[in-house]
Amino acid sequence: MSSHVFGRSAAQLPTALRGDGCYLYDAEGREYLDACGGAAVSCLGHSDAHVKAAITRQLDALPYAHTGFFTSEAAEDLADLLIQHAPAGIDRVYQLSGGSEAVEAAIKLARQFHIENGEPQRHRLIARRQSYHGNTLGALAAGGNAWRREKYQPLLVETYHIDPCFEYRHRAEDESLEAYGHRAANALEAELLRLGPETVMAFIAEPVVGATAGAVTAAPGYFRRIREICDQYGVLLILDEVMCGMGRTGYMFASEAEGITPDIVTIAKGLGAGYASIGAMLCTGRIYDVIAQGSGSFQHGHTYHGHPLAAAAARAVLESMASQGLIAQVQARGDYLAAALQDRLGQHAHVGDLRGRGLFRGIELVADRASKRPFDPALKLHQRIKAQAMAEGLMVYPAGGTVDGREGDHVLIAPPFIISEAQIDTLVDRFATALDRAIDRVNQQ
Ligand code: PMP
Repeated sequence: MSSHVFGRSAAQLPTALRGDGCYLYDAEGREYLDACGGAAVSCLGHSDAHVKAAITRQLDALPYAHTGFFTSEAAEDLADLLIQHAPAGIDRVYQLSGGSEAVEAAIKLARQFHIENGEPQRHRLIARRQSYHGNTLGALAAGGNAWRREKYQPLLVETYHIDPCFEYRHRAEDESLEAYGHRAANALEAELLRLGPETVMAFIAEPVVGATAGAVTAAPGYFRRIREICDQYGVLLILDEVMCGMGRTGYMFASEAEGITPDIVTIAKGLGAGYASIGAMLCTGRIYDVIAQGSGSFQHGHTYHGHPLAAAAARAVLESMASQGLIAQVQARGDYLAAALQDRLGQHAHVGDLRGRGLFRGIELVADRASKRPFDPALKLHQRIKAQAMAEGLMVYPAGGTVDGREGDHVLIAPPFIISEAQIDTLVDRFATALDRAIDRVNQQ
C-alpha cells in the first residue's frame, strides 16, 4: 500500500485504532499495554471520560478565539490551576502547543528579560550533554545529542554543554553522592567563569533526564548548588519539565523534590495527556514584571497560543488527576514498579542500572556489568528491545544516549498513572521476556 504520510507509515508500523485505559489496539486487533505513554504523554490512559466530556463541551461552546482579541475562561482557569501547584514564586503561564514551543519561548524570554533588565550582552546559553529539549532550532541548540545538532549547527543559538549529573557513570568510587552532586554542579560555575558570566543568559536542564538517558535523577543537593550558582552570577535557571513534570515523578513539578524554584519552567506532554496538543512556559513574577514595566510585552506569539480547546482539555486533565488522587498514586505505584523491576532484573547480567522516580523509570543495558561497558552502538539494542516488546504486546520507550562519547542503551518506562499493580506485573513480565529475547538475538550474532 502506498502512503502519503511523510514519515514512517503503514508499511512499517501498525495502525492504532482504539485506546482503552492502559491499552492500545491496532487494526489487526492486537493489544498493547502502554508502558511509556508514547513518550511519557498519556498519563491518564486512553479513555478518560472527564477529559473527553470537557473537550466536547468546549468544542460546542467555543473551539477557538485568537489571543490578540480575547482571553478565554479555559485559558484563565488553566493558568490559575497551574499556579496553585507551581513552586512558590512562579506566577505567570504562557500557553503553547507543545514542548519545543515552550522551550523556544523560555529561551527568548530569558534573552528579552536581560535586555530589559539592562544587561543586553547576555545571550549565551549553557545546557547539559545528556539532555533533550526539542527539535525546533532554539530547543535543538540546547539539546545534548551532538548528532541531532550536527547538520543544523550553523543555524543554532550559541550554546555550551557541560556534563550532566549522572551518578551511575560519573561518580568516583570513593566519592559520596553529596560530594559528587556538588562537584557536578560546580561544572556550571567553571563554565561560567570560562565564558565570562556576564555573557550568559540562562542555564537549562531537565530535573530528571528523560529521552536521552532513561530517567536519570540528580544527586541530592545538585540542583540546590545549581540554583546558588545561577543566583550568584545573575544567570536564569530554566527547568525543562516537559517530560518529567505534571505528576510523572510523584510531584506535580519535579523541581519540588529538589527544593528549589526555577526562574522559568517548561511543561507539555502530561499537561494535555495526549488529549490535546499543549505545552506551557511558566515564569516568576519578577521576570514578568521587568518586561511588563519595560517594553510592556513579551515579543513572541503563535496563532494557537492559549488555544481554548487545548486549555479546556488540560484543565480537565488536572481535575481528573485531583479527583482520582493520582499524584499520591504515582508515588505508591512508582514504588511498586521499582520493586518489581528490582526483583526481576536487579541481578540480570545485562542490566547495569535501574533508576528513576515515581512512574518514571529507566533501565540501562550494558554488555558487562562490572566494567559498565555498553553494547556496541551499531547493534542498536534499545531499538531491538522496543520492537521485541511490541511483539510481546508492550510499548516501552527506547533511547540511545551518549555515554562517555559512546552510545549507551536505555529503556524508559512511563506508564499511565492509572496503571494497576496487576498491570505492572504484566508489564514487568512482558518487558523481561522482550529483553531476554532481544539480547539472545544480539549475542547469537
Ligand atoms: N523537552 C523535553 C525534556 C522533552 O522530553 C521533549 C520531548 N521529548 C521536548 C522538550 C520537546 O517536546 P515536543 O516533542 O512536544 O516538542
